[in-house]
Amino acid sequence: MAKIPEPNFLESVSKNFDKAAAHTGLPSGLLEQIKVCNSVYQMRFPVKMGKDYKVIEAYRVQHSHHRLPTKGGIRYSHKVNQEEVMALASLMTYKCALVDVPFGGAKGGVKISPRSCTPLQLQKITRRYTTELIRKNFIGPGIDVPAPDYGTGAREMAWILDTYTTFKGGEIDAAACVTGKPVNQSGIIGRSEATGRGVYYALNEVCSIKEDMKALGLETGMSGKTIAIQGLGNVGYHAGRICQNEGGAIIVAVAEYEGSVYNKDGIDIDKLFRHRKATGSLLDFPGAKNMLQRKKILEVKCDILIPAALENQIRTDNASKIKAKIIAEAANGPVTAGAQEILSEMGVMVVPDMYINAGGVTVSYFEWLKNLSHMRFGRMEKRFDQNTYNNLVGTVEKLTGKTIGTKERKMITRGADEVDLVRSGLEETMITAYHEIRGTMKRKKQITDLRTAAFVSALQKISSDYLTLGIFP
Ligand code: NAD
Repeated sequence: MAKIPEPNFLESVSKNFDKAAAHTGLPSGLLEQIKVCNSVYQMRFPVKMGKDYKVIEAYRVQHSHHRLPTKGGIRYSHKVNQEEVMALASLMTYKCALVDVPFGGAKGGVKISPRSCTPLQLQKITRRYTTELIRKNFIGPGIDVPAPDYGTGAREMAWILDTYTTFKGGEIDAAACVTGKPVNQSGIIGRSEATGRGVYYALNEVCSIKEDMKALGLETGMSGKTIAIQGLGNVGYHAGRICQNEGGAIIVAVAEYEGSVYNKDGIDIDKLFRHRKATGSLLDFPGAKNMLQRKKILEVKCDILIPAALENQIRTDNASKIKAKIIAEAANGPVTAGAQEILSEMGVMVVPDMYINAGGVTVSYFEWLKNLSHMRFGRMEKRFDQNTYNNLVGTVEKLTGKTIGTKERKMITRGADEVDLVRSGLEETMITAYHEIRGTMKRKKQITDLRTAAFVSALQKISSDYLTLGIFP
């Protein structure tokens, strides 16, 4: 096989974009406008750490203003750099377009290792970062709305909201300045699991299509499929948990920083999660074999590989060793552009990041809407629906002379709670978007991978915004 040079993350996104752009027939100026990052804010600020001050390097990139606000997570990692944040911000634009979330793309990054900071230091850094964003008008419910990403979670989002409201007292929609907040701090039920749950809904749909599964030599359906997961963080844990508990999949291997564990008969991911919490390591999990080299996870024999850690994991030098039939890019950018070519040649189905991990931004959109409406979903209609269904069942019982059991009646007549509506909206989003991407691939016969098809679908939607505005007649 010919050696293909390895691009970095931003170059990979750029190559993937160009490959797809060639299938769109859009004017080159318009494509250029869509591709570039509109605003890049690079900042340095001091934070007192112990007796000394540390100068923190941080970024916020707004990739596209074609829809506002812009939206995207904040990453805390010692590997953060401007190009990485630019790549992540641009993926957010395509992701939002693909799943019909009306935002432009953005991303933030703070170059720190959260593991080596105390909670107090993390709080100081988060609050100062937020202050910098406020100062430059880079945050606000209608401007730019951050969310969690690698190394951050609900706790950091609560600090951001609190800092924002301190500066913007009296702003009625302030709670919508950030999503992924704790539920008791204007968050929404189901946000923390949303990306992982989205991965599950997507895979469930992918696996339900007989023609595609047959081409991969797999049975239809998720039940019994073997899965390997890289990264047991927010996305990896929830994706694995839900695929196992609701989809009936078998988790055969899981990797974390300290190494990986393997059991061909299956690993209970909930127990593994608790084991890691209690011991500080995945290793020595009862019934599983340790694999000390964590990268080996990528080469494990399984039906579905879920890289859920960081970018550039599957590269030209290891792509040919992949044994999975499906790669679900739960992380952003785990497969490089070069590796994608090799995997396509091998007949591996890569379900692209911009689609499969879009559950997070989808539920963030629901949270933002909830904050703007100042009311939880389901509050108005739950009891009304319940009464209507009860009347309906009562009428059917009267007409047929038969009665149903209490348990069945309760199930049929239940009104939807917030979590039901969030999950329903997420499932609908993931299924619709998959068929859109697959439809693009079917229509444009020259497209041979789902990533290119996803890019084309996204580009069509974004370009139509610009064209409608008359910016590119
Ligand atoms: P996280 O910090 O909660 O978890 C990531 C986990 O990966 C950590 O536990 C870390 O120790 C582990 N890890 C890092 N390098 C590893 C390696 N080489 N091998 C094995 N494990 C490794 O982060 P997250 O929020 O789950 O994000 C993971 C990925 O998903 C990122 O690419 C992120 O951009 C993407 N993503 C996250 C969200 C979200 O809602 N959080 C949404 C969309 C995409």
